Amino acid sequence: MIRHLLATLALAITAGAAQPPNILFIFCDDLAYQAISTYGDKRKLLETPNMDRLAKEGMRFDRCLVTNSICGPMRAVIQTGRYSHANGFYNNSNSRFDSSQPTFPKVLQKSGYQTAIIGKWHLMTDPVGFDYWNVFPGQGAYYNPPMIENGRQVKYEGYCTDIIGDLSLKWLDQRDKTKPFMMMSQHKAPHRSWEPPARLLGFDNDRVYEEPESLFDSYSGRSKAVSDHDMGIDRTFNERDAKFVMPDRMTDEQKKAWNAYYEPRNAKYNAVAPTGRDLVKWRYQRYMHDYLACVKAVDENVGRVLDYLDKNDLAKNTVVILSSDQGFHLGEHGWFDKRWIFEESLRTPFIARWPGVIQPGTTNSQLTSLLDLASTFLDIAQAPPMEGVHGRSLVPLMKGETPADWRKSLYYHYYEFPVPHRVRPHYGVITDRYKLIHYYTPDVDDWELLDRQEDPQEMRSFYNDPGYTDTVKELKGEITRLQKQFGETVPPPRFTHGNKAFDNEPQPPEQPKGKGAGKKKAGAKKQ
Ligand code: CA
Repeated sequence: MIRHLLATLALAITAGAAQPPNILFIFCDDLAYQAISTYGDKRKLLETPNMDRLAKEGMRFDRCLVTNSICGPMRAVIQTGRYSHANGFYNNSNSRFDSSQPTFPKVLQKSGYQTAIIGKWHLMTDPVGFDYWNVFPGQGAYYNPPMIENGRQVKYEGYCTDIIGDLSLKWLDQRDKTKPFMMMSQHKAPHRSWEPPARLLGFDNDRVYEEPESLFDSYSGRSKAVSDHDMGIDRTFNERDAKFVMPDRMTDEQKKAWNAYYEPRNAKYNAVAPTGRDLVKWRYQRYMHDYLACVKAVDENVGRVLDYLDKNDLAKNTVVILSSDQGFHLGEHGWFDKRWIFEESLRTPFIARWPGVIQPGTTNSQLTSLLDLASTFLDIAQAPPMEGVHGRSLVPLMKGETPADWRKSLYYHYYEFPVPHRVRPHYGVITDRYKLIHYYTPDVDDWELLDRQEDPQEMRSFYNDPGYTDTVKELKGEITRLQKQFGETVPPPRFTHGNKAFDNEPQPPEQPKGKGAGKKKAGAKKQ
């Protein structure tokens, strides 16, 4: 408390009348760094001028990693600054966020910030720590989405990304201007099933996208955990993904625009009816059109919010951070989706702009993580730190200073299994060069070692290569050290519930269905 008062006092003295900086967090869902032009994917998939502008005026983090590559869990990690096993939100299947635990928005609120979250929340319980919240129930819908505004059900007509842009600007306009703000503007896009806005259908003029080198990965020499997946463009891509099924809840006008684009192209597909590799190639092209159109809409809305900051003289005193809850596979290893410790799903975009503090146009390649966000936000706001967090503030890195004891390795653990996508739980450690991974289901007990220097595509395991014996030994020691540091036991006891391969524990009894038990209250989330 004293530290906080002193910090506030110091701030008031040094900054004169200036407020602590505002924080604008623009967060996407399943946004692959490969789809942002500043990240320089060799396929040059899309131009994203507004996200690139942020990088030009700020710092691009090139190795920001997640700790559990899936939507809800990473959101819980951001709220708490603690790993999934400590915050209790392991997976999207049966986890519910315990909002009684400490979170960074609660601290910011107590420190005088006005706080808001708009868009995708996905933590199953109502947001806590926000003066204003307006969120999708569950995953949300692309077209004409229902939302829950401070506990009240509301409905909007239009496209979700534009609606989040509109609502973000509206809140910025109506906020209490005597206080600094922290707004989480959280997009649903470009989450599956990548449903583009009508205005961007055909934006790429039927461009033929370059394929990733590992589109037809054979998984040879790899663990069964890697080959026995259910997230392949070849085997898992469904009718909705391929846009042979129209999204729900569209208006007649939206349907008309949708059909005008997809019907002739679908007819062409049906005339050829590709199979095997040709089918994968066709699906990859459709996937890229749809996914990238969704990203383009996000980029346009990033531009709208940045323009608002400029026009309202807010840019100078607002820290803008753009990120995503994880990365995403854009055909690498033959996949869509995320979950893996492999680079495309592990690494997430992270760009920060902070005028006067971050040197414009800089990059940072240290091992950073969304685990660090809670501490970073509090540090930016000069609010008191939270006890027991597992991450640390990125502010020194933003200032261009790397603390001597900055992490050289990061611990990772993915839990959700077997559905959806049959990605086996795995934990591991990541360094600048290596990843050591352990798959540990009853049917698979395999280790893999990746060497990104020798094999940047991550298509081989070096675990049994005698030349790597010492590396394996050292990294196993590192896993043990990190599990001890963060207090994780493997497999974690709470994780056994709802994950059938581990279901050797008695299930909790069903809640009695008394009067009103089945009735959903406003704000009840549906998956
Ligand atoms: Ca996600």
